[in-house]
Amino acid sequence: MIQRWNLKQVEVLFNKPFIELIFKAQQIHRRHFNPLIIQISTLLSIKTGNCPEDCKYCAQSARYKTGLKSQGLMMIKEVLANASKAKAAGSNRFCMGAAWRNPHDRDMPYLEEIIREVKAIGMETCMTLGNLSSSQAKSLAKAGLDFYNHNLDTSPEFYKNITTTRNYQQRLNTLNKVSKAGIKICCGGIFGLGETIKDRASLLVQLANLPKPPESVPINMLVKIKGTPLENNDEIDSFEFIKTIAITRIMLPKSHIRLSAGRNQMSEQTQAMCFMAGANSIFYGCKLLTTPNSKEDKDIILFRKLGLKTEHNLHK
Ligand code: SF4
Repeated sequence: MIQRWNLKQVEVLFNKPFIELIFKAQQIHRRHFNPLIIQISTLLSIKTGNCPEDCKYCAQSARYKTGLKSQGLMMIKEVLANASKAKAAGSNRFCMGAAWRNPHDRDMPYLEEIIREVKAIGMETCMTLGNLSSSQAKSLAKAGLDFYNHNLDTSPEFYKNITTTRNYQQRLNTLNKVSKAGIKICCGGIFGLGETIKDRASLLVQLANLPKPPESVPINMLVKIKGTPLENNDEIDSFEFIKTIAITRIMLPKSHIRLSAGRNQMSEQTQAMCFMAGANSIFYGCKLLTTPNSKEDKDIILFRKLGLKTEHNLHK
């Protein structure tokens, strides 16, 4: 692991006053990005539910009774219809997720064809499929996959409280294979899982010290899903969440930081503060895999109020 940051330095950041952090994050943000431009991605579940993993926050784990309707692999033409719709709505990246521990080799031709066809529409592609072997990562790269999403979720120390069916090192191994294959990395975490401030700092140290910092960093606020073990977790305080975004921006100055799950439960003011703290990407669309996302027109109204523009002028 490359030591760009250590835990002590990050804990110092977490102890800084909120206003100071926002100011520092905004200065760093402006050095690397236009602060008025937001990147937009759309996420589609191409295989839903019945997942063998036991991530305690997830509606798709086969272990929890959440009422989610499982669905097998989506037909390619349906995937493409969704991609075209997303592009027409202003999205420039199409992210596709399958609730698997890992893809089987028999699924590879299907996945490769989807990548080629979505790219032919003129969109960037991202997939999240679980663990990958080196040869699978290479095949996806060869088909033209731009990004692979594989979140670390939380700190290495807290990880076993959230998922027991795999370990942290397996996550790091897949990230490594993806990076070696030449695919850009989308990797972030979830806050509000019951982790301590130290865990938050420790997760951010992991992200910032990856051999190559992730190009895209989704920051999720836990969405408490009925039937999952975390359904009664305490809410994470909005200021704590915004502060975490600011620290992520300070530690990962050149990454796109994506305000991801949980945006639906945030006020417009909280979202605005997240953008001021350095978030510059969102998921757009009514569904974020299986949890509700902010309604599209609500986003357009908020962007107008804040004078924000998207990479593809969503709210012209
Ligand atoms: S987060 Fe992903 S791997 Fe974990 S249970 Fe949900 S779908 Fe499966």
